Amino acid sequence: MFDKVLIANRGEIALRIHRACREMGIRTVAVHSEIDANAMHVRLADESVCIGPAPAPQSYLNIPAIVAAAEISGAEAIHPGYGFLSENARFAEIVEEHGITFIGPRSEHIRLMGDKLAARDKAIELGLPIVPGSDGAVSESAEAARVAAELGYPVLLKAAAGGGGRGITLVRDEAELTGAFTRTQQEAEAGFGDGSLYVEKFLERPRHIEIQVAGDVHGNVVHLGERDCSVQRRHQKVVEEAPSPALNEAQRAEIGGRVADAMKKLGYSNVGTVEFLYENGAFYFIEMNTRLQVEHPVTEFVTGIDLVREQIQLASGAPLSFTQDDIKFSGHAIECRVTAENARTFTPSPGKVGTYHAPGGMSVRVDSAVYAGYSVPPSYDSLIAKLVVHGRNRNEAMMRLRRALEEFVVDGIDTTIPLHQALIANQDFANGDYDVKWLERLLESGH
Ligand code: ADP
Ligand code: ADP
Ligand code: MG
Repeated sequence: MFDKVLIANRGEIALRIHRACREMGIRTVAVHSEIDANAMHVRLADESVCIGPAPAPQSYLNIPAIVAAAEISGAEAIHPGYGFLSENARFAEIVEEHGITFIGPRSEHIRLMGDKLAARDKAIELGLPIVPGSDGAVSESAEAARVAAELGYPVLLKAAAGGGGRGITLVRDEAELTGAFTRTQQEAEAGFGDGSLYVEKFLERPRHIEIQVAGDVHGNVVHLGERDCSVQRRHQKVVEEAPSPALNEAQRAEIGGRVADAMKKLGYSNVGTVEFLYENGAFYFIEMNTRLQVEHPVTEFVTGIDLVREQIQLASGAPLSFTQDDIKFSGHAIECRVTAENARTFTPSPGKVGTYHAPGGMSVRVDSAVYAGYSVPPSYDSLIAKLVVHGRNRNEAMMRLRRALEEFVVDGIDTTIPLHQALIANQDFANGDYDVKWLERLLESGH
C-alpha cells in the first residue's frame, strides 16, 4: 500500500479523499492555489504545496506543477477527485510516466469514454442500448439537418468532448438548427478545445439513472446498483438518490448485470459510472464517467462500501474487496447538492461565510470544506456542501432530510438550501414521480 498520496483537487472532494487516506494510515499531500491557502483541505493534509494562482488553468489544471509537487513530496500516487484533471487521459499517462500511480482507470479507457462519440460506438459493441442519433460526428449544419429530419424533432446537438452539463443544445425545429449548430460548435471549441458535434434524439420525459461499477486489474467487475439523478437544472444534477424510485430489485439486477458484463469485456478497472436515460421501461446509454462521481456517497450509504478506499486499494493492484454477492443494498439514501447561489435566481454568491452550523444526528452526512469565516472564492465550482441522509426506507430518508435541512445554517452568503426545502416538500418528489425536466418545470411555475 502507498505511504503517501497527493490529492490533486480542492473543496469537499479533497477532504473526502484525505479522510479515506487517513483511515488507511496513508499520509496526504494537498495542492492548492494562492486563493486556497487557508482552505480546509490544506489545513488537514500532512503537507501542502502551492501550485499557482487562483485561475484553474494555472493551478488545479497545471500538470507540470502538480507532478513536480508529487516528486518533491515523494507521493507515490495521485488521486484526481472529480472535475479538473480527473478525466484527462494525458495527465494519467504523464503521472504514470513519472513512476507515480494514477488512482483511476487505465488512460486508454479515460480517453475512449472522454470522447462521447467513441463511447457510443463502444457501447453498441458491448451490447448496451444507446439513444438514437447520428452515426459519428456531423461536420456541418446541413448534415445535422439531414440526421434530425430522419430522427424527428426535437433533437439535441451535443459536443463530443462535453461534460458538466455544458455543450448540449436543444433544437426544436429545422429553423433553429443552423444558429444552434454554429453556437454549440463555438462553445465546444472554446470550452473543450474540440468543436466536434453529434445529434441525439431528444427524449421528452426520461429519468437519469446511472450504474456504479468497480473493477480490479485482475478482470473482476461488479456493479453497486444505481443512482437516480433526474432532479436537474440545466443538465446538472441537483438531488440524487438510491435506489431509484422507478426500479425494482429485478430491474436493478438486470441492468446492473448487463453493465458489469460490458465493463468486464472492456477490461475496465477502478470505479466508474455508466449513465443512462430511462423512459417507458427502456434504458439508453448516454455516457460513461471514468472517475469518482460527486454523488458517490448515496451508493456508500446503501452498500456500506467506502468507494474511495476501494479506489486506492484497486490502484495499488489489490483485487476487489467484495464479490457481486457480497453487495447487499440496504435502505434509501438521498443527497442534496448545496451551492453558493441564490435559490431563486441562481446568481452566484461567493463571499465570506458568517455562522456555519452543519446538521448532524443519526444517518446524516455532510461533505463540505466550509467553516465559519471561510471565504467562498468566485474562481471555482459553486458546490459548497453535500447533505446526504440515509433511512431504512424512502420515507424515513425524507423525514431525516427535511429535519437536517432545517438545521443547516450558512450565514453571509446565499445558498440553495431553501430550494432543497421547497423541492422535497413537493408532492411529486414525495411520490418519486419526476423526470429530468421536472425541476425546471417546477421553477417556471414559481413553486
Ligand atoms: P457527476 O457526474 O459526478 O455528478 P458533474 O457533471 O456534476 O459530475 O461534474 C462534476 C464536476 O466536474 C463539476 O465541477 C463539473 O463542472 C466538472 N466537469 C465534468 N465534466 C467536465 C468536462 N468535460 N470539462 C470540464 N469540467 C467538467
Ligand atoms: P454531461 O457530460 O454534461 O454530463 P450527459 O450526456 O450526461 O452530459 O447529459 C446530461 C443531461 O442532459 C442528462 O442527465 C439529461 O438530463 C440531459 N440529456 C442528455 N441527453 C439527452 C437526450 N438525448 N434527451 C433528453 N435529455 C438528455
Ligand atoms: Mg453526464
